[in-house]
Amino acid sequence: MAFTSVHKNGGGGGVTITPRALLRVDRPLSVNSSGSAAASGNGHKPVVAATPAGSPSVRPKSASPSSTAYHRRSSMPNRVRVAVRLRPRNAEELVSDVDFADCVELQPELKRLKLRKNNWDCETYQFDEVLTETSSQKRVYEVVAKPVVESVLEGYNGTVMAYGQTGTGKTFTLGRLGMDDCSDRGIMVRAMEDILADILPGEDTVTVSYLQLYMESVQDLLAPEKDNIAITEDPKTGDVSVPGATQVQIQDQSSFVRLLDVGEANRFAANTKLNTESSRSHAILLVQVKKTVRVKAGDRELIVLNENGTGSQLTKGIRAPTIRRSKLLIVDLAGSERVDKSGSEGHTLEEAKSINLSLTALGKCINALAENSPHVPIRDSKLTRMLRDSFGGTARTSLVVTIGPSPRHRGETSSTIMFGQRAMKVENMVKLKEEFDYKSLCRRLETELDRLVAENERQIKAREDNEDDSARSLEEAQQCVFEAESKLASALEAEMTKLQKEMTEVVGKHQKELMEQMQKHQMELADALAAQQQERGHRERLEKHSKIMGLRLSLEKESQKREHLEQELRAIKSEASRKSLNGNLQKQSDELLILRQRLDDELKDRERLEEEIRSLKEQVSLLSDEGDEHTRRMMEKGGSERSSIGSESPGVSISKPNHMRDTINGQRATIAKLFEQVGLHKILSLLESEDVDVRVHAVKVVANLAAEEANQEKIVEAGGLGSLLNLLQSSEDETIRRVAAGAVANLAMNETNQELIMAQGGIGLLARTADDAEDPQTLRMVAGAIANLCGNDKLQIKLREEGGIRALLGMVRSRHPDVLAQVARGIANFAKCESRGAAQGYKTGRSLLIDDGALPWIVANANNDASPIRRHIELALCHLAQHEVNAKDLVAGGALWELVRISRECSREDIRNLAQRTLNASGTFQSELRRLHLVY
Ligand code: ADP
Ligand code: MG
Repeated sequence: MAFTSVHKNGGGGGVTITPRALLRVDRPLSVNSSGSAAASGNGHKPVVAATPAGSPSVRPKSASPSSTAYHRRSSMPNRVRVAVRLRPRNAEELVSDVDFADCVELQPELKRLKLRKNNWDCETYQFDEVLTETSSQKRVYEVVAKPVVESVLEGYNGTVMAYGQTGTGKTFTLGRLGMDDCSDRGIMVRAMEDILADILPGEDTVTVSYLQLYMESVQDLLAPEKDNIAITEDPKTGDVSVPGATQVQIQDQSSFVRLLDVGEANRFAANTKLNTESSRSHAILLVQVKKTVRVKAGDRELIVLNENGTGSQLTKGIRAPTIRRSKLLIVDLAGSERVDKSGSEGHTLEEAKSINLSLTALGKCINALAENSPHVPIRDSKLTRMLRDSFGGTARTSLVVTIGPSPRHRGETSSTIMFGQRAMKVENMVKLKEEFDYKSLCRRLETELDRLVAENERQIKAREDNEDDSARSLEEAQQCVFEAESKLASALEAEMTKLQKEMTEVVGKHQKELMEQMQKHQMELADALAAQQQERGHRERLEKHSKIMGLRLSLEKESQKREHLEQELRAIKSEASRKSLNGNLQKQSDELLILRQRLDDELKDRERLEEEIRSLKEQVSLLSDEGDEHTRRMMEKGGSERSSIGSESPGVSISKPNHMRDTINGQRATIAKLFEQVGLHKILSLLESEDVDVRVHAVKVVANLAAEEANQEKIVEAGGLGSLLNLLQSSEDETIRRVAAGAVANLAMNETNQELIMAQGGIGLLARTADDAEDPQTLRMVAGAIANLCGNDKLQIKLREEGGIRALLGMVRSRHPDVLAQVARGIANFAKCESRGAAQGYKTGRSLLIDDGALPWIVANANNDASPIRRHIELALCHLAQHEVNAKDLVAGGALWELVRISRECSREDIRNLAQRTLNASGTFQSELRRLHLVY
């Protein structure tokens, strides 16, 4: 809120202006801050003093108005908001990845993303928003960009960026024009719609520049001939601008969409000319908004009078006109994948470096900001210079990281996610930039004062004149009344005399006429008609009589009229005597009193708010002290836990907060060092130590090493597999068996190791461990190991003979969803190998899974609520059903219904189609469906 008050100083004509500007921002920028663990630690209701502290400025009237302009800048901390968006599988992926699970799993309600590390382990990450493959463009706009656009309209700078591998949907998210289908509209189009809806045409302005940054050269997409445009920074304010770029003022939405279209065409042409792809360049839309602040009178917010603000408005509150300038940057970043330095895309090494420069520099800046490093290499590239405000700068920033589902791009997806995670740690200082136009306020106040003085003078003069005039006008009025009365009386008399005379005349005339007529007719008419003549005469007399009555009535009306006039005259007289001319004067002094009262109130308000700020500042410093203490304690705790290295074996996948992950990475680094310095043989020999504690630590170290593909071969070569199996066989300790099983599971990811595990009796040992163990985590490790072995075509028969399938099925007693998911994966792997064998002709006869009694569990869990279990079982059923020899058992076991359900309801199109094809191809299924009168 901000308000400025004014009052006149004594009689000297000086004006005291007390600017008091306080800004309260009640609406947080958060995309959806509630419930987001990562969003903690941000005060969203800061109250910021916008004037230089404690400096109410008093300016005499003679002060130069031009020196009275203030810049108000208020700041508050604000973390970069990061959303992740998953692109749906594209046509190619639907075919090529048909047998693979997506490498990510989203939990939008928890705002979490799980990234699959390998077949059975994954990492969990928290974001501000998680947008699934079905999220609409409208929702994406609302959670990613709308809060930024709203704050741009409130006068803050804002940035929306998309980061991700080429083809994951950055341009889809930001740049779709939606000309054919309006629901496709991307963030650029929707942002402009909201901006245009908010501004006042003719008063506010919106201008747009559209730029491309390629190989450290800024090109103008609205005027392609402009190349290598300079970026400048205001040395005082640090504001970044591109003065050489074309700026187009936007009046309406359709011209903006045309502009984007032209920009896109120019981008394509420019890239063709440069022989590159658009994925290698950054596209930057710069929208600049200039807005005059308007607030309803009475609101306790910033208010400005328009240029022709009048006196009556001034009495409600004098406010300085305020102009807010803000800018919105929408940045479609270049693809985050590494540029091939080998030159296969036709680039020289130098070009490759330059292409990557800006994005690399952006990554470095984000790392530096996330780690609170004292040096942030902003000046290393053009992109980071342009985004100076956006990261660790003075704007509100939203980042959407886009990823694809394919496991083939796991590496790129993982690095994109890590980029987003680091960006979430970056804090910006948001600043409101507005200017108080004191120059024009001063001009307006002076005019208003002059007007009030002149008005006052006029009223005083009028009052004096009125006092003299009133006595005179009273006499005159009485005289007028008297004259009017006598005039009226004589007029009435004359009227009455006239009427009486007329009446006598009329009666006399008629009597005479009657006499004459009677005499005339007496001679002409016979006696027989005498009666008739008498009658007629009688009628005529009646008529005359009624005429006389009419005249009498109008006489009465005239006298009523007279009475009425007399009453009016009396009313005029009393009004004239009552009239007092002091009323206006009274009103003016009342207004002055109200103004003074308001000034006092506002002074009190200001004191109260300053007190509030002081106490908030104290609270903030107290809070940051507490934060430091907390961080210190966490660090100490992390250090002491290092003694239990490997307590999270690689098989355990739980959501780890950032600091936990850091600790685990630290542990891994320590283990790698141990590995180098002590040597693998030494570590493996510790597995046989007499001391249980030593054995526990040693097996954890080995399990950690086995999680890295690079170490697996070395461990097996050094005899580590044998030692681990030994531990499984002989150890009494549950932890040792759990971790050893996890290590074996890791080793079992590779085909050669799978054969070795089988050859060394591993399956029997795993089966025994499965029988003995109760701990779900141990069971999960064992099930994961067997599931990996199930995927090897060559080992099928042996695996089954040595009790692998039975052990797998035995573990379902645990009911723990993680264990069940591994069992389901094992069954799916086994069924897939069998169907491959059947297709190639070397597997005949019924499925070993059915032989070993797996079918009832498969059918019971085919529609399990947990999607990983369901998905594996659905796949397993489809594979089993492809081999006609299994069909009868499937029908008898109730699997046909599940297949029909899968063919209709499965969320994955590829599995749906597979089930449908299988049902159509099998004679047994077809005849059963016909028998049941089900047309399929
Ligand atoms: P990028 O800009 O990251 O290189 P694009 O936006 O060009 O990626 O997207 C690549 C392809 O994927 C395009 O054909 C696009 O239509 C499609 N695509 C991207 N995201 C989605 C989505 N969320 N839904 C449907 N199709 C998408
Ligand atoms: Mg693109």
